[in-house]
Amino acid sequence: MRDENNSNHDYKSIHEFDYELIWEYFSNLKRQGPGSTEVTIKALSFIDNLTNESKITDIGCGTGGQTYVIANNTSGNITGIDLSPTFIDMFNVNSKKLNLQDRVNGVVCSMENLPFQNEELDLIWSEGAIYNIGFEQGINEWRKFLKKGAYIAVSEASWLTEERPVEIDDFWKDAYPEIDTIPNKVTQMHKAGYIPIATFVLPENCWIENFFAPQVSCDEKFLKKYKGNKTARELVENLRHETKLYYKYKEFYGYVFYIGKKV
Ligand code: SAH
Repeated sequence: MRDENNSNHDYKSIHEFDYELIWEYFSNLKRQGPGSTEVTIKALSFIDNLTNESKITDIGCGTGGQTYVIANNTSGNITGIDLSPTFIDMFNVNSKKLNLQDRVNGVVCSMENLPFQNEELDLIWSEGAIYNIGFEQGINEWRKFLKKGAYIAVSEASWLTEERPVEIDDFWKDAYPEIDTIPNKVTQMHKAGYIPIATFVLPENCWIENFFAPQVSCDEKFLKKYKGNKTARELVENLRHETKLYYKYKEFYGYVFYIGKKV
């Protein structure tokens, strides 16, 4: 479908904003991307062979919303990886609060330079974060850290249909040009040396209730604190724009979980 009313937007891409300010904004949210406890548990249900010796990493873990769900449903050791010291500080405070500090530890590190040995890991997890390195590059580069027969489970923005209105096509081409259809992502996973085990689309509540709704009260506090700050105002405007686009075009895109097993 083509939409003839294409209007070129003047919204900045989120990548152009000051990182510190973005981290502060998102540190007020329980989750930094679309997801839910149920979805994390569902994705985990496809992973077998985990023991209390297992080594798991959660890449782009943020403040750990999903990491504690993994921790409560597995018995291995989990290393959370995130570029943001703000998030990792909160992550490690949460680990202690939940008395999980012996097996859940957060490290400030880039997903482009992971601190693991070859064939060390039993599971690589990453919700709403692999886009930072790019899906295809991420699944290819991270593969070496997995043992043979070990799993990768990532969630990633994906097209749900072959065609879509030009407004949403343009938005995503600017925000994340690697967004693609589910069969194309599965093919990439297959080519990278994984058996595609499962894919499923995250339900709308992962966006609406767990991601957009909590932003409303965050926005108010944030705008009050940074009154007159152009960057803060633009960040909130961009997030509101993203919310509007989701409601308008949610039949065409969503987050999808991709689970693969290293051949
Ligand atoms: N998994 C969390 C957070 C998703 S938001 C959730 O679903 O709630 C994406 C996360 O990736 C953010 O926490 C951001 O700080 C992190 N990130 C961005 N670039 C990164 C990089 N190069 N290396 C590691 N983490 C990165």
